[in-house]
Amino acid sequence: MALLAVRDLSIDIAGIKPLDGIGFAVDKGEILGIVGESGSGKSLTALTVMGLLPLIGGRVARGSIRFDGTELTTLPEPDFRRLRGRRIAFITQNPMTSLDPVMRVGAQIDQVSRLHLGLDAKAAQARSIALMERLRLPSAATVYHHYPHQLSGGMKQRIVIAMALAADPDLIIADEPTTALDVTIQAQIVQLLVELVRDRGVALILITHDMGVVAQACDRVVVLYAGRVAESHGVQAIFAAPRHPYTQALIRCIPRDGMAPGSLAGIPGSVPSVANYPAGCRFHPRCDRAGAPCAATVPPLEHLPSGAEVACHFAETREVANA
Ligand code: SF4
Repeated sequence: MALLAVRDLSIDIAGIKPLDGIGFAVDKGEILGIVGESGSGKSLTALTVMGLLPLIGGRVARGSIRFDGTELTTLPEPDFRRLRGRRIAFITQNPMTSLDPVMRVGAQIDQVSRLHLGLDAKAAQARSIALMERLRLPSAATVYHHYPHQLSGGMKQRIVIAMALAADPDLIIADEPTTALDVTIQAQIVQLLVELVRDRGVALILITHDMGVVAQACDRVVVLYAGRVAESHGVQAIFAAPRHPYTQALIRCIPRDGMAPGSLAGIPGSVPSVANYPAGCRFHPRCDRAGAPCAATVPPLEHLPSGAEVACHFAETREVANA
């Protein structure tokens, strides 16, 4: 049984449906990438799984989210609160949204293990410093006493990762955890996060717009476009034979060694706003392979013999052609 299984999930925010029938599963200890451009629904997926949709006036309109056998879409908020932080932890894009600016960072990590694991002050401090050392924070015992404003962006995000791990969760959801950081340390932080979750057997959902990060870190990937799943598959398989034109375009966007400056292939156009989703395949206005049925008929998410799931009218022929 998957640790987390999301099925046919649709949400409603003020009468609009930014997520439309999405599904995916994460096994214990697995790293799942959720990838797509801004506006594809990645962060809303994270908020929905965390039970935080009501904070932005949204609700689950249809579908199921099962975590270790418990249905989350109907879980009362007091029960959800016990799950958050303890069994499912969240790492946001900007560390300052997770850190209290007037509290020493060590005390903020301690708080998590004291609340969720019942540790006393001394045991919590020892655990926090050990975690900080594992996250390669230099002089961890000193930094423990610092305030967030005394730390660099990369150090702050390491503190947030330590907070996420402090209660030994089963699942961490990391929403673009390096977006706010200097490009030179982004890969280091992802690498550290991956090392720590692999060591501890923690499942990770890594949300990113960058297929390069998926290649670096993930076991499987779900590609979202305009609130629907475009494709999902194992990472090696999807890089070897991407079926959906959007996946192919995202892979073409990864900078490669030897690439001339300015030659990065972008994807023409942008993700439509939720109020203006086109009929049929939502990618059709940007798709260089669009054919007769694409503007009128929604492509169903099909399970191909290779194990891939793809929502494209021509995925089958492309798989045969690529095999
Ligand atoms: Fe392109 Fe048509 Fe496939 Fe959509 S269904 S991705 S428009 S070929």
